[in-house]
Amino acid sequence: MIVEIDGVRKIYQTPEGEIGALEDITFSIEEGEFISIVGPSGCGKTTLLNIIAGLETPSGGAVRVDGTAIHGPNARIGYMPQKDQLFPWRTIWDNVTLGLEIQGKKDAEHRARVQELLMRYGLRQFAGCVPSQLSGGMRQRCALIRTLATSPRILLLDEPFSALDYQTRLSVAEDIHGIIKKEGKTAVLVTHDIAEAVSMSDRVAVLSARPGRLKRLIDQPEMRGLTPMERRDHPQFQRYFNLLWKEIDRCA
Ligand code: ADP
Ligand code: MG
Repeated sequence: MIVEIDGVRKIYQTPEGEIGALEDITFSIEEGEFISIVGPSGCGKTTLLNIIAGLETPSGGAVRVDGTAIHGPNARIGYMPQKDQLFPWRTIWDNVTLGLEIQGKKDAEHRARVQELLMRYGLRQFAGCVPSQLSGGMRQRCALIRTLATSPRILLLDEPFSALDYQTRLSVAEDIHGIIKKEGKTAVLVTHDIAEAVSMSDRVAVLSARPGRLKRLIDQPEMRGLTPMERRDHPQFQRYFNLLWKEIDRCA
């Protein structure tokens, strides 16, 4: 067991009063597992990722990684935000090594690892380019390589494909899923796309409307070990899709 989310609550204090964002969230994530979090807009998905990342403090409960409670940002956790957030004026190389630079780890060994990641994932010849010279999918891959460069064990992805058109989204999801599996990482993906959740993850956590509570944790044992495209072709795909569709709270 690697990540334990134990009775996590979050209440935001605002000038208009308290906003309950999360209520008693408890589940754990195994090493190497891919979990998706789905739920209606505003139910606390980003808040939960921020708490796991140590960027926000829970109002109650705790998050533990390998038995140790998270207090603040942690090198074992990599965060890939919603937009690729590459700096337009920095080259791809200067973008993918940014995390190392911030952590003061831009030494020969880490630089060599980033070179290898760029080569393995087809981006080495673009190292000297700026982000605007790359396709949306390639930029997303750069954002992932930047996150992988610091060697986190857990990757948190907050709607990482939402800015991409549908076709690109399918192929980038395939791509990113392959990289995460090949690198043996544990991943938590927030998405509002339930087909994406079914196609990418081993288990799906469904949060209720605000305050987000864990409504259901759906295991998809038949899907383990398959690529997203293979899952979309799987006879059980539609069943899991329908299960999620029924489970998610919706405004009428
Ligand atoms: P989601 O990612 O599921 O759309 P969020 O986690 O971003 O939801 O937000 C959950 C709820 O908490 C929303 O109602 C949002 O307005 C509120 N919220 C998020 N961050 C803050 C904050 N810093 N201060 C006050 N309220 C916040
Ligand atoms: Mg969000």
